[in-house]
Amino acid sequence: MNVIHIKALAKINLGLDVTGTREDGYHLVRMIMQTIDLFDWVTIRKSRYNKISLTTNLNFLPTDEHNIAYKAAALLKQDFPQIGGVELRIHKCIPVAAGMAGGSTNAAAVLFGMNKIYHLGISQRRLMEYALTLGADVPYCLMRGTALAEGIGEKLTRLLPMPDCYILVAKPPVSVSTKLVYQALDACGELEHPPIDAQLDDLKRQDLCALCAHMGNVLEQVTVPMHPEITRIKQLMQEHGAITAMMSGSGPTVFGIFSEEGQAVAAKGYIRTSGLARQVYVTRPFNVKNKQINEDQ
Ligand code: ATP
Repeated sequence: MNVIHIKALAKINLGLDVTGTREDGYHLVRMIMQTIDLFDWVTIRKSRYNKISLTTNLNFLPTDEHNIAYKAAALLKQDFPQIGGVELRIHKCIPVAAGMAGGSTNAAAVLFGMNKIYHLGISQRRLMEYALTLGADVPYCLMRGTALAEGIGEKLTRLLPMPDCYILVAKPPVSVSTKLVYQALDACGELEHPPIDAQLDDLKRQDLCALCAHMGNVLEQVTVPMHPEITRIKQLMQEHGAITAMMSGSGPTVFGIFSEEGQAVAAKGYIRTSGLARQVYVTRPFNVKNKQINEDQ
């Protein structure tokens, strides 16, 4: 096999709480992660030139070691000299700097795909360790599905899948730096914390309405005052049938949960017309069945 095409899937957070700070400054989190069926295509091709090359469809993204997918390839190449040349092609659809783990999921796809096409024989556990050196969300992007993420995001517990529904994703045309949001959070006083334990119970009972009622993201308290359009998009989604709407990760992407596809599609139209967001997608939860990563060869 000389080439592999991998769907690198995005995530949303059904719940996101920050519970403290580690001595090294990293934030301790409790997050309910959900993979969604919105993805970038990552193509990995063996090449005869002994180097890593990367191209993407977005001209503002780095194509050198500043791209986290490139870093993932360099990490494996350093430990496995037999790798030789690697060509990476990333076709991005996941909004960038949006709280959807776009970079992390590209890195996870590269780790998974290179292990496969170069027959490196790296165990799942070791792959998770490589993933964590690249970023706190990368191990989850390898695991995928519905999971509780604790620690700095690396302690993962698989949960029952989120009940099926339609998810409307809308990214306003502003970029948010995850690092700055967490820094600003430290300067906040009393925070309102979302009920993550209640959400865990809701998932056990497969109760979508209760899960939605308990959704909350502590980071909204930082990002929303900076970008009030987030509130406007949430309101629009709820006015047009969303059971609930919330910001994902550090934002600014907003997602709404719908039980009816037709309502989600109609709400998408209203949001586009409002001009509040240009990147708007109707998608669904992705649930892991047998395969670790969905691939198309
Ligand atoms: P998270 O939810 O993990 O915080 P995010 O969606 O907020 O991620 P990314 O889309 O991963 O953020 O992008 C954050 C920054 O990383 C961007 O400014 C971008 O230039 C840089 N970057 C590096 N590699 C990639 C990549 N492969 N895809 C997207 N962004 C990348």
